[in-house]
Amino acid sequence: MRRLDGKIILLSAAAQGIGRAAAIVWYCLYLLSSISVALFWEKIEMIEGIFPGLRLDTVGIPYSKTKAFAKEGAKVIATDINESKLQELGKYPGIQIRVLDVTKREQIENLAKEIEKIDVLCNIAGFVHHGTILECEEQDWDFTMNLNVRSMYLMIKTFLPKMLKQKSGNIINMSSVASSIKGVVNRCVYSTSKAAVIGLTKAVAADFIEQGIRCNCICPGTVDTPSLQERIQARPNPEQALKDFLARQKTGRMATAEEVAHLFVYLASDEVSIDNKISCHRIPCYFAA
Ligand code: NAD
Repeated sequence: MRRLDGKIILLSAAAQGIGRAAAIVWYCLYLLSSISVALFWEKIEMIEGIFPGLRLDTVGIPYSKTKAFAKEGAKVIATDINESKLQELGKYPGIQIRVLDVTKREQIENLAKEIEKIDVLCNIAGFVHHGTILECEEQDWDFTMNLNVRSMYLMIKTFLPKMLKQKSGNIINMSSVASSIKGVVNRCVYSTSKAAVIGLTKAVAADFIEQGIRCNCICPGTVDTPSLQERIQARPNPEQALKDFLARQKTGRMATAEEVAHLFVYLASDEVSIDNKISCHRIPCYFAA
């Protein structure tokens, strides 16, 4: 239950794929915990009904806090540039949607002015360029580095001061196994950018962990998302492209967006808090599916 307790979570690239799954998994956890809290609350009221005059909180059962949490829950602010896809998330009560281009400093700063408190910042936006260095033009290089790395620099630089003021905060960046972890064919600028994300994550963690800020990154293998399917269909031989993707996977299958989403939830939870001895606050967390 404590996983979500009143947390404010800001997600980029939430309209589809891993970001969307993370927003929905958070929402479902909120719903489940609200239901269990509601059932617990009902039982308390039943006991108090049987013994008139008995107030369980006055005899040391602090349920009022729990009740407050049921009302409060986590608040997810789901952002993306794709407004129409983002609208689909708006129907979930715990999710607030907001159009945001993470490469635009002004838009990020405007959003920051509207958000008083932020507990978790998830930087998920990224783009996959296909090709070796010989097929990577300068504009491909600049576009990828801008979206995959500079956007995280802008987001962290904007929201970190709020976290420092709160003396707590949690940043989760999206990297990839195609990075400094592993050489993958036809991913020259993509791997370069994701290696930079690992470096950025470690630098932020090293600089701010003592001030209560955790910074981790997630490094998945191939995940079945709409953009992956588009990349497969864009190849001259999609059937072979699918086989090639699967051949890279030791598991023989792709990871699902939901599997990666659960890792976001875990890293954002207090189960990995700084006070907690199982904290992975200095070691970026690798998830190579
Ligand atoms: P996706 O490509 O399916 O969706 C990306 C989302 O980002 C889209 O909703 C898009 O509208 C949004 N977006 C694009 N440009 C944006 C911008 N400037 N500002 C805000 N939003 C923007 O995503 P995915 O496949 O779930 O990948 C998400 C992240 O995970 C990326 O960083 C990707 O590199 C990384 N990743 C993906 C895989 C995979 O196999 N799918 C594997 C490892 C890492």
